[in-house]
Amino acid sequence: MGYADATLAGLANDGGLYFPATWPQVSADQMRAWRNLSYNDLATEVLSLFSGEDVPKAVLSKLTTAAYENFGHSAIAPLKQLDHGLYVMELFHGPTLAFKDFALQYLGQLYNHLLTERNQTCTIVGATSGDTGSAAIEAIRGLDAVSLYMLHPKGKVSEVQRRQMTTVLDQNIHNLAVDGTFDDCQNLVKAMFNDAAFRRKHQLSAVNSINWSRIAAQVVYYFRAALELGAPDRPINFSVPTGNFGNVLAGYVAKQMGLPINKLIIGSNSNDILTRFFESGTMQQLGVTSTLSPSMDIQISSNFERYLFELTGRDTDRVRQLMDTFATNGEFSIESAELETAKKLFAAHRMDDKETSEEIRRVYQSCGEIMDPHSVIGVAAAKKYAEPGVPTVVLGTAHPAKFSQAVADSCGKNVALPKRVQHIMTGDEHSMDTANDLAAVQSIING
Ligand SMILES: *Cc1c(COP(=O)(O)O)cnc(C)c1O
Repeated sequence: MGYADATLAGLANDGGLYFPATWPQVSADQMRAWRNLSYNDLATEVLSLFSGEDVPKAVLSKLTTAAYENFGHSAIAPLKQLDHGLYVMELFHGPTLAFKDFALQYLGQLYNHLLTERNQTCTIVGATSGDTGSAAIEAIRGLDAVSLYMLHPKGKVSEVQRRQMTTVLDQNIHNLAVDGTFDDCQNLVKAMFNDAAFRRKHQLSAVNSINWSRIAAQVVYYFRAALELGAPDRPINFSVPTGNFGNVLAGYVAKQMGLPINKLIIGSNSNDILTRFFESGTMQQLGVTSTLSPSMDIQISSNFERYLFELTGRDTDRVRQLMDTFATNGEFSIESAELETAKKLFAAHRMDDKETSEEIRRVYQSCGEIMDPHSVIGVAAAKKYAEPGVPTVVLGTAHPAKFSQAVADSCGKNVALPKRVQHIMTGDEHSMDTANDLAAVQSIING
């Protein structure tokens, strides 16, 4: 299956995840030639290595231009120095102020292009506890071939999160406020996908985090940061606050393509399933606790399966067996030789809320930078694994204004929303209330 079909399918029919059969290689000379490209042009070059004939370069160039034109910084992903050898790449200048815009803005454009080319349309349904919903809405608003129904638990998302979704008035965007919890919303979405007739009638689709094209779009900024700091002639470390293993997986892919990445450092909050894995070789599911960094409050790292495929030498049977064990027992273990291999590239660090809050204050006091509770975990992890001669880039995943309460409580600074998004606080809201009932939700979508 090619890039276009894998993008539109999302998940394979057998429940597996799509991954390229081989890694495209980028030579040192090629990288040097890429140093002066704009972000859009670099994205076009990198993504063309994955899309091949499915999406010609001229089309990719239009898609990446449209994807990144609504960003609030002309560098798209600016790099800022925090300390000697320590940098943060700000991935929060997109329309919803978090790094998910990098993948979703591109995916929205790509979906629309592929569907239009095939003379098809689709209906995307999703459930959100806050952040993913607004990123998907901003990515899909105004597109001709795609409409979106986003379910959120009524009264259970913050005012900013709700307004980021409901003040989007485009005809193809529909917000449903469900009288229930986030789990109820997710169950309604699952039930709609399980209703074969309904699924077919509306050409239902999902743009969730396991879509390969989302990972591919995230590979681009690893190249951008490394090229700015001297790659391919100098090695580089990345420190990535992650929960789903999605963002850091893109770094692994960049390394397979030839980027001289020395270490990929994972930052976890108290939901530390990944940090425990890299300490012990056992992936063990525990309950989720709420933290100051809610976008990393997860129980299962859904993209880890892709790395497991690589770590086992692409042994499909073994991956299936480990994932089945995980589904049944809530845990699985890898062999010690495999853990040694994994530790050559990956390191991990966990922080509880108290440490996170202290680190926000420390960073502010040492260099005046105000950081959000996700990104700052990356800073602490980067410091722990600092090596002389190897610069480390922390991926800044959210704008501090998005988590202003935690920031103010930690360092005493109030951060206002950037001017270009302030209109959400006064704009008209559009949302439909619905009972927590499958038939009620389906009748809204049936129109
Ligand atoms: C989604 C999100 C993350 C975690 O992303 P992964 O895909 O789990 O790597 C981290 N920070 C913020 C602000 C997010 O929105």
